[in-house]
Amino acid sequence: QVPLKPGRSLMDWIRLTKSGKDLTGLKGRLIEVTEDELAKHNKKEDCWICIRGFVYNVTPYMEYHPGGEDELMKAAGTDGTDLFDQVHRWVNYESMLKECLVGRMAVKPIAAPKEISSTLSEEKKQLNGMLSGKKVLSASAKDLTPSYDWFQTDSLITIVIYTKQKDMNAELVIVDCQDKQLRGEIIVDDHSYLVEFDLDHAVQEDMAVNIAEKIGKVEIILKKKDNIHWKMLGQPSESHNTFIKRTDRGLFYRKCKLVSKTDVTHDTKLLCLMLPRSTHLRVPTGQHVYLKQIIAGTEVVKPYTPVLPFLPLDFKEPSGHDAAHIYLMVKIYSCGLFTQALDQLQIGGYISVSGPEGNFKKSQVQTSEDLFLLAAGTGFTPMVKLLNFALTEVSCLRTAKLIFFNKTEDDILWRNQLEQLALKDERFEVQFILSQPTKGWVGKQGKISSSLLSEFVKRSRKDSKVLICICGPTPFTEQGVQYLKSLGYCQEEIHAFTA
Ligand code: FAD
Ligand code: NAD
Repeated sequence: QVPLKPGRSLMDWIRLTKSGKDLTGLKGRLIEVTEDELAKHNKKEDCWICIRGFVYNVTPYMEYHPGGEDELMKAAGTDGTDLFDQVHRWVNYESMLKECLVGRMAVKPIAAPKEISSTLSEEKKQLNGMLSGKKVLSASAKDLTPSYDWFQTDSLITIVIYTKQKDMNAELVIVDCQDKQLRGEIIVDDHSYLVEFDLDHAVQEDMAVNIAEKIGKVEIILKKKDNIHWKMLGQPSESHNTFIKRTDRGLFYRKCKLVSKTDVTHDTKLLCLMLPRSTHLRVPTGQHVYLKQIIAGTEVVKPYTPVLPFLPLDFKEPSGHDAAHIYLMVKIYSCGLFTQALDQLQIGGYISVSGPEGNFKKSQVQTSEDLFLLAAGTGFTPMVKLLNFALTEVSCLRTAKLIFFNKTEDDILWRNQLEQLALKDERFEVQFILSQPTKGWVGKQGKISSSLLSEFVKRSRKDSKVLICICGPTPFTEQGVQYLKSLGYCQEEIHAFTA
């Protein structure tokens, strides 16, 4: 991210797009763009970029791009889909840049390889820059591809997905069924398998998902609204029965109801969102979701990391999972575009929530003996579930230390709960460090530094297995990682939470 000039915020951009100004230079005309034509528009003052088959004139957007002009220019005159997806695939450029739309890429016929020409014949024509829907899988990959089947009784429809995975669990299964639209996604490492239908008949709101973890079988059980015989399950969508990279699968949102909102500090709130009854979704430890709102006619998306409703103090057993709710701890910024709008959401109102994302894996902490959590401000959010998981389920864990950086005492999130936990569980310790303390503060002060880290991050034994997790403002995280490396910790011992 680069600092933007005053008057170049996302809200300023939204205002400009609503001003009626001709942002494409084509007076509202849409054209078909060839690769040669696209390549000609490769200068700052005349810059076109193709994203998912659509071509945008991004010259007016240059100064508003949070990643900076140079980043945008990397895709000038070319297909920037991969570049955009690598950085922020969750940003809805289609909505953000809709007033800059020049047109579509011209259709380019591609020759299908001989041996698969029969199956792909209808797909010979493909839009430039569009992700090809189906990928041809090698024989070995096909063996690992999940498959599905369905059957019915008088009152039930059961869809069975054979994941071919031996370690299936509830976090790897995401199911939504709304208005006859059924979507079941199975996560297999960095791939995603999808079953997606426009169902033939209506079903009731409640749905059951059964997972046979050891054999990798997932059952989705729907209740028929009318006890009639279904001739077919329904119309499959284009993405149905595909097994592709997770990053190639678009984010799917469902509307969740805001059921409560409580103050955590003067500017941070705990929001409780209720999932629809016909949704099965669990956000794994260390992962985030995206919230989506329409702000002044433009879709705006921001990531948030679910927490627990409170810090459990008794870690003898895994805490019963509240599968119906998602808790978010959100800092409301006085001039924040998204958080101001979120703060306006009334109890009973709805907000769109995506499926989970993130590259943290529980296995990273499963073998840790010493866990260090370096959090700054709301960078505390991923630490909540992580701490709960480590203290509950990691039997080799000896110490868990949270080093929590905040501006003032009033900014410390869940201070009471953290102090209580430290009293209750001798493995856990918390250290608060303030960057703008008031006079009465007798604790530690300062910002992240090599000397602070060498004081607090120490192995409990010479060879103990360490994991250090770090999350906060980008400069905090980047500096922290550098200091840790200079103190001798290796890449595998550090996990930085980033976008
Ligand atoms: P913007 O309109 O983007 O910014 C307006 C002003 O607010 C800025 O000028 C600045 O003064 C201030 N501001 C905004 N963002 C920041 C920032 N990141 N750091 C410092 N000052 C800022 N936030 C949470 O509250 N809870 C979470 O659980 C959470 N999880 C996240 C997970 C990930 C993976 C990432 C990348 C971010 C997460 N965030 C979280 C931050 C969140 O996504 C938004 O960036 C934040 O809510 C601000 O959005 P906004 O549109 O209101 O502010
Ligand atoms: P804040 O402004 O209240 O600052 C908290 C502390 O961070 C400060 O006291 C200071 O010690 C440190 N800090 C701030 N700026 C720094 C800098 N430039 N260099 C070194 N240290 C610095 O923090 P906030 O407003 O609560 O912001 C929290 C940040 O955490 C946001 O940027 C948010 O996007 C990020 N976050 C990221 C994730 C994730 O990536 N998974 C999750 C949650 C929050």
